Amino acid sequence: MIPEIPKLDAAPSYADMVKLRTESYNKTKGNLQGYDCPECLNRGYIAKFTDGVEFLSECGCMKTRLTLQRIKESGLENQLKSCTFKNFETDSEWQKQIKKSAMEFIQSDATGFFIGGQSGCGKTHICTAVIGNFIKKGRSARYFVWREDSVILKSLVNTSEYTERFKEFKNADILYIDELFKGDGTTAADIKLAFELIDFRARQCLKTIISTELDENALIACDQAIAGRIFQMSKRFRLVIPKDIRKNYRLRKE
Ligand SMILES: [Zn+2]
Repeated sequence: MIPEIPKLDAAPSYADMVKLRTESYNKTKGNLQGYDCPECLNRGYIAKFTDGVEFLSECGCMKTRLTLQRIKESGLENQLKSCTFKNFETDSEWQKQIKKSAMEFIQSDATGFFIGGQSGCGKTHICTAVIGNFIKKGRSARYFVWREDSVILKSLVNTSEYTERFKEFKNADILYIDELFKGDGTTAADIKLAFELIDFRARQCLKTIISTELDENALIACDQAIAGRIFQMSKRFRLVIPKDIRKNYRLRKE
């Protein structure tokens, strides 16, 4: 007599096995540092199984990590920590207006944010806070410190390194140009560089934040075409702090 073969439970399917495997991978803690990501638990990747295909997808935090790394490399890490919206002084009405505009910009789909005029009024602080907020949202940002980066780029003109380096600034997800035209006089090479960068970003509708000690008229006097691009980009978010701001509150905004 032939013994009856016991019925086995159905073996797990390939899909079940992959599902278990991806779930187990996605629960594993990674060891990436510098940013605590609840999505990938600091592995940098998320396992996925879609339409029968198993693959690793890069987590959105990798962009943030890269940005944080770049901020670290640029030496502005401490600035990003100390220049937040929270500690931006708002004793005066004009300071409240600057903060309000910056916070509206973050929520908007506008391309440009421009703040010019009087030095020592927190322009770099507010722009850094804007960048910090975009980074928190997973956006990638680059700093262009005019008095340093423009000098480096100009020294590389006509080399392949120039194109490569410039491309990183031109195509950055978000670019912060700090203290545009700051230095000992503006040369034709400065104008050419600034126009190439700003015109490219304006045409591609890439988010660009610009701070400068120049007011609108000084910018026009510097170069009409550059001023035109900046005004066009930052229509809704263009702030100019007049020299007498501390005595006389009068903030222009289109
Ligand atoms: Zn992540």
